[in-house]
Amino acid sequence: MNRPGSAPVRDAPAGARPDRDAGVEGLRIAGLARLSTCDWPGRLVATVFCQGCPWSCGYCQNADLIPPRGPAPLAWREVTALLRRRVGLLDAVVFSGGEPTMQPALATAIDEVRALGFAVGLHTSGAYPDRLVPLLPLVDWVALDIKAPASRYPAVTGRAASAERAFASLAHVLASGVEHEVRTTIDPAVLDATALAELADALTAAGVRTFAAQRLLRRDPATGIAVAAAEPPADFLDTCAARFPGFTYRSAR
Ligand code: SF4
Repeated sequence: MNRPGSAPVRDAPAGARPDRDAGVEGLRIAGLARLSTCDWPGRLVATVFCQGCPWSCGYCQNADLIPPRGPAPLAWREVTALLRRRVGLLDAVVFSGGEPTMQPALATAIDEVRALGFAVGLHTSGAYPDRLVPLLPLVDWVALDIKAPASRYPAVTGRAASAERAFASLAHVLASGVEHEVRTTIDPAVLDATALAELADALTAAGVRTFAAQRLLRRDPATGIAVAAAEPPADFLDTCAARFPGFTYRSAR
């Protein structure tokens, strides 16, 4: 586990510096999970859900986090007050969303969390590769969504050019040396056998070694009940197990 002061040194590209001018009290937070054992596998964490996301995935389980401003924001000082009471009880804090890298105040929030002695994890869709670069040396672990092969990205995110951004972020994460997991939620409506084969090829070509395929859970808007989508094809899972040494399949989350 990396802790403040013992994190490996990783170079950011010249000129890429975190924005620490943004007031951390301006960080837009939609919620806080006080204890999670799955947001960073193997760690006990609190998870901060950041408001705002530039994409619009059809299966988004946090669709109320997509608008840049939410109805009931949580103040950063409330989060840090809770975290101070959890020192020694939690391993880490994970910034999730929404898309945390959308907000310039994220770097300062990470600094403050590290100063309390917590390791820091980051969940990102990779929508902002240029903002991600200076954040990578600040965190201990990244979970990066690669949602589809490039040809199917807009069908998942609802946004043109989202593939270019996500795959640029993937290259940055792999080059940084930060501990990470690349993950894909398998939506059978978009990722048919052809697309899954393209995805496995794209991840292999990029040099991915740690990959998690996640079965899609769709929440019924009327009942709120989550229903699992069909399992991915077995030959896709076999291909992933053969190609990625750190492969995990999560059949339901
Ligand atoms: S990138 Fe994540 S938070 Fe944004 S719409 Fe897609 S699933 Fe939801």
